[in-house]
Amino acid sequence: MNFSLDFTERVSTLKSFFFGPVLSRRLGYSLGIDILPEKKTCTFDCLYCELGKARQVKPVHRFTLFADQIDRFKRELKSILTSYTIISSLTFAGYQGEGTLNTCLGEFLQAARLVRDETANQDIPLSILTNSSTMHLKDVCENLFGFDQVIAKLDAGNQRIFEKINRPHPSVPALKEIIHSLIQFRESLLKPRRLILQTLLIQENASEQNIDDLINAFNLIKPSGIQLYTIARPPAYVQVKRLESSRLEQIGKKIGKRLHESIQLRVY
Ligand code: SF4
Repeated sequence: MNFSLDFTERVSTLKSFFFGPVLSRRLGYSLGIDILPEKKTCTFDCLYCELGKARQVKPVHRFTLFADQIDRFKRELKSILTSYTIISSLTFAGYQGEGTLNTCLGEFLQAARLVRDETANQDIPLSILTNSSTMHLKDVCENLFGFDQVIAKLDAGNQRIFEKINRPHPSVPALKEIIHSLIQFRESLLKPRRLILQTLLIQENASEQNIDDLINAFNLIKPSGIQLYTIARPPAYVQVKRLESSRLEQIGKKIGKRLHESIQLRVY
């Protein structure tokens, strides 16, 4: 189905918390929810980021944003869900960066759940995309536990590639600690809620060594699933190349052969 751009533009301009729905390769018709300021606010500065260059913020540098606007958020979401039944995921997405930096995330999640349950199909998952850099913080995890799907970034299996690809703020924990946080999160997650890892590969992190290290990390973390993909659009300010589909498939096969049987791998 060809979903008209008109719709996307109308929702984007009228609803400041919402964008899309966009037809996502990984989530279907996903209504994006953005609770960050109108400029990039992130603990990373990934090589492939589609947003402009911005200085990274510390994971503990948290914002309390839009707490007084939750009622408006609910009204707008209700209006969107009543009008458009095509939506298949309500996704707190990093449209302008890392959404877990807003300390009001839990309140927005509760509001979205309430409106979804009253207005729409309760099977529409509440999802969040996170870059994993704040998952060592207890209050962040408490909010994340409330999502149906937590889709957490893991592009590197070793510290060198992590720093090269994701360019974290110096106070972001080391990759080993992030992996440990992901393991702890998965162990504490109540079923049927799911932890999914999203791994974006470009030429800079597709070396045999990084793939081997990633496989080890995947098997330690044991998420429900792994989403393996490459860039779809050109990055904002650094020239990096997407992987050829054939190379991505080849890597997918290699990972699939060595992955714990409980983990579902999808290559996009
Ligand atoms: S985590 Fe997302 S928003 Fe942050 S720098 Fe990376 S790609 Fe950009």
